[in-house]
Amino acid sequence: MDAERPKLIDAHLHLQDEAFSKDIGEVIARAADAGVDRMVCCGTCEDDWPLVMNLARCERRIIPCFGLHPWHIGNRGEAWMSKLRRYLEGTPSGVGEIGLDKYREDLDERAQEKIFRLQLAVARELDRPVTIHCLRAWDWLMRVLRSEEIPRAGVLLHAFGGPPELVPALADLGAYFSFAGDVLDEKRHRKRRALAAVPPERLLFETDAPDFLPPERFCVVRPADAPGGKMRNEPANLRGILRGAAELMGEGEEELALRLRENSRRLWGGLML
Ligand SMILES: [Zn+2]
Repeated sequence: MDAERPKLIDAHLHLQDEAFSKDIGEVIARAADAGVDRMVCCGTCEDDWPLVMNLARCERRIIPCFGLHPWHIGNRGEAWMSKLRRYLEGTPSGVGEIGLDKYREDLDERAQEKIFRLQLAVARELDRPVTIHCLRAWDWLMRVLRSEEIPRAGVLLHAFGGPPELVPALADLGAYFSFAGDVLDEKRHRKRRALAAVPPERLLFETDAPDFLPPERFCVVRPADAPGGKMRNEPANLRGILRGAAELMGEGEEELALRLRENSRRLWGGLML
């Protein structure tokens, strides 16, 4: 039966996180059992790029992305850009996770924008898809994206939390949108309205593991303890997220999975070995 289910693609997660350091093999095996065939694993800083590269070399289900996340710009080394380029050129990979963040107040905004624009430029040059993080910075993001040429390979707004009203303008720029399991939480009205506004051919889902645990009834795997007293999410839960999303959207699970698969192929097909 399982072999007949359409395979799923986890559009965003961080398998290099220390929460997975002890049992990554089991985590990946459980994802495979749940029909999660590909996982887009995003680096966030110079320290975790080698881990992401290693994971992708050992496991063909992992699509690697390399990028400097706005939370980590303060720790960048002088040669960060040439290092990033080396990782990107070293394997079929996307650019991410990069972006703009006003949620945290300790981040230098000028540096954020400069670093974001540099990484968009490298994505254009190498023709790679981009994964974008945006927190409380939607006007700013729109301004930057409108003043840049959008990388042809596409951009994904991961764990989309922007205003639903902004979805059409972002879709016009060519953006894809992915939602994590928290959209299944009944209290997340704004996220649910945004989900409903996304054009069908631009929609994706993600676990953002180890974060963003879906509501309990959609968890395929019992959450494990993670460092920092948090509960760990993992990619197998994408199966439960799909079930919940299909229910929420009034669509068949299989039909939705097939559409998500086509969307993923359009965005990441060039990186699937
Ligand atoms: Zn992330």
